[in-house]
Amino acid sequence: MKEKGDLERFCELAIQLGAADAKLIRADQVVVKNWVRWKCRFGCPDYGKVLMCPPYSPTPEETLALLKEYEYTLLFRSKPSTPKNLAVELEKRIFLEGYYAALAFANDSCHLCKECNVQKGYCIRPAEARPAMESCGISVFETAKNVGYRIEVLKSKEQDFMGYDLVLIC
Ligand code: SF4
Repeated sequence: MKEKGDLERFCELAIQLGAADAKLIRADQVVVKNWVRWKCRFGCPDYGKVLMCPPYSPTPEETLALLKEYEYTLLFRSKPSTPKNLAVELEKRIFLEGYYAALAFANDSCHLCKECNVQKGYCIRPAEARPAMESCGISVFETAKNVGYRIEVLKSKEQDFMGYDLVLIC
């Protein structure tokens, strides 16, 4: 079992790399719900167009099974101006510290390529692309509220927006 205190330094690292703030939470505090992927399927313009999104991304059942293998999660928030690859950079840094199973989830659909390689069925930038939490069934709202963040539905595009990313650690 990992010592939580030893992992807290990754919150500081996330902030150094551009996150607004970060929390180390237990992996079993991450909420997975079927409705999240249904919202991807009915209402998201990226559905079926990006390999990091449904129907290609892991199902809620797969995500729940994955979470059982992890003890902790680094959950962090960032402004839209923050580099989009922050979660992947943190995954790499945490991996290099010896946490070989570190695994990142992004906060948005993958838009790394002008057009996703979805026709051929494989990602052409696998070192950089990670699925969004929602695309795997993670309820960002419920997870964030679960660990003390105040998160509300935004009613206009003028309101400040914060993206949430996470990195699993075991
Ligand atoms: S990196 Fe490119 S090919 Fe891979 S999922 Fe993202 S958009 Fe698609």
